[in-house]
Amino acid sequence: MQKTNLLYEGKAKKVYQSDNPDIYIVSYKDDATAFNGLKKGTIMGKGEINNRVTNFLMQLLEKNAIPTHFVKELNARETAVKRVKIIPLEVIVRNIAAGSLAKRVGVPEGTKLFSTVLEYCYKNDELGDPMVNEYHIAALKWATKEEMKLIAQYSLKINDILTDYLSKSNITLIDFKLEFGKLDDGTVILADEISPDTCRFWDSTTNEKLDKDRFRRDLGGVEDAYHEILKRLLGQ
Ligand code: UDP
Repeated sequence: MQKTNLLYEGKAKKVYQSDNPDIYIVSYKDDATAFNGLKKGTIMGKGEINNRVTNFLMQLLEKNAIPTHFVKELNARETAVKRVKIIPLEVIVRNIAAGSLAKRVGVPEGTKLFSTVLEYCYKNDELGDPMVNEYHIAALKWATKEEMKLIAQYSLKINDILTDYLSKSNITLIDFKLEFGKLDDGTVILADEISPDTCRFWDSTTNEKLDKDRFRRDLGGVEDAYHEILKRLLGQ
């Protein structure tokens, strides 16, 4: 499989067309941004770690009947994925209050949520990814009611699979972000990434943060945290 045109360069990834019209090639970068691009930096080794961790977790989900865009890991930082039309939503799944939710509702970070919370944000950097609800999503035709029902079902099932799997590595899944896309025939599948950039992972014993919050909040030990996740999940 060969990269052809660069289609899109985002904050953490580049997406290329390939010699197969149905396949895109994703290349993960070491660049890191936070606060809607206001804070910029580099996390050495991040691209390769996010590529490997994402692919490992996507394959775990596939084994558990979640359809994903994963096709094949091509090399340390590049992966072939199915071409989809991205549904312009960030689906946030939360088990424990942290980040923007803790702030918004005024509870301490680490507060256990009695039931899982799903949130939707409209993917739009200029607007700062505003939170929207299912009425907005249907009214603005970003996804149909049926598609949203499936997306919610998949998201909750993904949460169960990941929470259970990560707990075996002594990692607590606090919250995470998902993106879904549609194949030409309308099938909804999981796309984008699942990595320390897009999830909050806390060590289950010490509550130490093992994710991008170390970068966002200048906690130090950013690279070590990413490596620790790779080691716990893939033994590398
Ligand atoms: N998240 C993400 N991309 C975004 C916003 C959030 O991957 O543009 C992830 C984030 O890493 C966390 C979860 O979604 O695991 C919930 O994030 P939150 O809404 O608390 O926002 P934050 O505090 O990260 O700004």
